Amino acid sequence: MKKAILVDSDKFQNYDFGPSHPLTPKRLILTHKLIELIGMFDDPDVDLEEARYATDEEVGLIHGEEFIKLLKIASKPLAPDSMWEIGLGPGDNPIFEGMYDASRLYVGSTLLAADLIMKGETKRAFNISGGLHHALGSKAMDANGKTVDTGRDDRASGFCILNDCAIAAAYLTKNYGVKKILYFDVDAHHGDGVQWIFYNLNNVLTCSIHQDGRSLFPGTGFIGENGRGEGKGYAVNIPVLPYTFEEPYLEVLKEIVYPVAKKYKPDIVITQCGADTHFSDPLTNLFLTTGTYQKIAKFIYDLTNEFCDGKWLALGGGGYSPDIVGKAWTIYFAQMADYKLPEKVPEAWMDLSKELIGKTPTPYFIDKENPLSRLREEDQQLIKDKTKEIIEKVKEVVFPLLGI
Ligand SMILES: [Zn+2]
Repeated sequence: MKKAILVDSDKFQNYDFGPSHPLTPKRLILTHKLIELIGMFDDPDVDLEEARYATDEEVGLIHGEEFIKLLKIASKPLAPDSMWEIGLGPGDNPIFEGMYDASRLYVGSTLLAADLIMKGETKRAFNISGGLHHALGSKAMDANGKTVDTGRDDRASGFCILNDCAIAAAYLTKNYGVKKILYFDVDAHHGDGVQWIFYNLNNVLTCSIHQDGRSLFPGTGFIGENGRGEGKGYAVNIPVLPYTFEEPYLEVLKEIVYPVAKKYKPDIVITQCGADTHFSDPLTNLFLTTGTYQKIAKFIYDLTNEFCDGKWLALGGGGYSPDIVGKAWTIYFAQMADYKLPEKVPEAWMDLSKELIGKTPTPYFIDKENPLSRLREEDQQLIKDKTKEIIEKVKEVVFPLLGI
């Protein structure tokens, strides 16, 4: 059995909203190349698998027929400029030729990663193209494999066309009889799509730490959103303030995420590893560093070992400093494979970054710059105090619902 497997493809580059869009697929090249250049693919414990396409039927586990039909129309040459009824158009989710195939490749790669884990090829698989957590779906699946209506419309949102995270959860239930899935989302944005899709169910517990929705898209993810019906208590939201930095962030992991996982005892953990929480990210306002990512990765590694025999399906997500994304996901993958990272990134990778995105990254994997130098001491204290209040509030509101 391999310690970790990466799912990748040159065709990931086809998911491209255009040169002025912040979600550049070049960040996936930078990630793959960094993993390659530090020699991880030469490690016999590590493997690389070519991505596969999801079928219409697999996409249809979460998304409705009409939505898929419209996406196919949007994919054709000379398609209309917008289809606002399904969230497509200039701005966040512009229409591009081949968008349905590009999207179902991202989904299929997540499903392949799930298969690799469930078939015992590895315990930890990573689809860096996945994690498209904002897309909304009209269907969900309960623990018995029964399709249920989410009461919501299918819709592309926040650069996400198909929700691979939710499709993977339904796929695991349908094909492998998985009863309890912990979906843990560390993207700077709230994992709203996955939350709303499984909002009425308890077989997928969604847990999201994100920048407070009052200051960031999608404007949801408040503590009081905690599920409905049999799903009551199975949506856990920890909205943190802008400028939240490592120390209070790690408190949230210890005080909220760990006890929730301990109580729920998932069969597998799916993580959305968005790297837009970095202090350099142009779209968000959190203050994490690549050093924080190493600690989050170790936290998830230990958590999955303790509660679900190591089964960890990792997905990508946001991240709009492409060089930081490359470092962040290499850090996650190295943790998944127990691989010791070098202190510095290879020079060839720095040159590649310069060539692809016009930016020469800092030479170290772990940031030397401390973003706290940009915050006054009283503001640091304020964020620590406020995070403590948020933690207490989550404990007060959500823990009793879960019987903690
Ligand atoms: Zn994000």
